[in-house]
Amino acid sequence: MRFGSLLLILAAAVPASAERLVRIFDVSPGTLDVLAADGMDIAAANAREGWIDVCLPDRETGRAALYSGRYDVLPVEWGMLTDENRGNAGAYYSWEENNAFWATLSAEHSDLVDTPVSIGTSVQGRDIMMIRMSSTVGGAYKPAMYFTALTHAREPGGNACLIDFADWLATNYDSDTMATWILDNTQVYFVPIVNPDTYILNCNPMGGSARKNQSPPDGVDLNRNYPYQWGYDDEGSSPDPYDETYRGPSAGSEPETQAVMNLIDSIDPVGGIHYHTYGGYLLRPFGYNNSNTADEATYAAWSAAMTEYNGYACGQCGDVLGYNANGDAVDWTYWNGGGHPRCMAMTVECDEDGFWGNQSDPSGLEALEEECRYMNIWICMMAPGFTGIGEQEGAPVSGGLSVGPVWPNPASVSASASVTMVSPGLVGLRVLDLAGRVVSEMPGMSLQEGASQVSIPVDGLPTGVYTLEVTGQGFGAASRFAVLR
Ligand SMILES: [Zn+2]
Repeated sequence: MRFGSLLLILAAAVPASAERLVRIFDVSPGTLDVLAADGMDIAAANAREGWIDVCLPDRETGRAALYSGRYDVLPVEWGMLTDENRGNAGAYYSWEENNAFWATLSAEHSDLVDTPVSIGTSVQGRDIMMIRMSSTVGGAYKPAMYFTALTHAREPGGNACLIDFADWLATNYDSDTMATWILDNTQVYFVPIVNPDTYILNCNPMGGSARKNQSPPDGVDLNRNYPYQWGYDDEGSSPDPYDETYRGPSAGSEPETQAVMNLIDSIDPVGGIHYHTYGGYLLRPFGYNNSNTADEATYAAWSAAMTEYNGYACGQCGDVLGYNANGDAVDWTYWNGGGHPRCMAMTVECDEDGFWGNQSDPSGLEALEEECRYMNIWICMMAPGFTGIGEQEGAPVSGGLSVGPVWPNPASVSASASVTMVSPGLVGLRVLDLAGRVVSEMPGMSLQEGASQVSIPVDGLPTGVYTLEVTGQGFGAASRFAVLR
């Protein structure tokens, strides 16, 4: 009896899920397939630098030697919350801190932030919360943007980026022209914790590095459960319930997946980001077979602009990480064959030290939030114009002349636009700020019939939203653009 009790106590003292991240270097192109076939938990990978991080039980890190002669056991705080940070997630935001943050933001900015609502319940019956932000200014139709985080429960850095962006929008509305423009022209939807059951387990004793949801027997990888190309092959997802990339018994089987799908199908977003960690990547569809979408040229241009300052690597996950993923959220959200139109969906893998690397470093987490905030601002400025507002702005106002979209948009150093004339003539170009003040005026120029490229001086303009106005021969046309630095 006594001996049995002692064994039980000993078993309870050793966290069953104590795991370490291990970085395997010098991997060959086939190593990922071998790791996946062995059922290894792949935490992150970098195809260009040739390393793969795997999550291994604390006492089995030596298994990495099976795959490469060179590996590093990474610091324990990369993969787990330390004792002092358990319960409150350290510098990250626990479930309770999330609830408090979003409720407070909504109460303090009730004109901009709706009361958080539930869009469904998790396997264990917890509410999956959604928060909508928009101002009361603007037309009846305002296109939607979406941001999600914590689909994988061990990736709290993405959740911090959503909290930062929502806070930035609310705090800077009316004083920052970009925040003002975004909330006046779009509705921004946040789902800060897609997978609450496992996140709560990770934040509390005994956990830290669980990825899947809580469906029996061992959880489903929610980012392999979406219906577009679900189960396309067994390399991009696994049919084995005990693998970390188990795709679930059927497409869209999980309540957490369904909650996100129902939201996307009901708001018809024009763009958005599914947040993950880690590695420092901005990913675009298609992930299931590493092929280009019909919007590849746009995706490539946007990705280059969005990562201008943080240097994140861009591409499909097959290119950047070295493996494909089928049934993931970004492919499904982009895809227009379901209950929503095509959407410029992207995935961010935040550049962190493992999953919990900033747990004791609030300033490190702030730096991460800031390097991702620019991407959030950029896509919120760009996606609505791409599919709606910009086309309206760029459409001919009259029969005499028309002006196309300003490119690049947002601009930083120089920009240009195409002005099309029905007949040759003199035109005037002006740039106006949001208040209608002329901030830049170019000398009149004579243009030929047809389309001409005109350059727009933007180097003296501060960050903000502007209108390019073209007038001539009794006609006028306008195109809106942003300057971002
Ligand atoms: Zn993830």
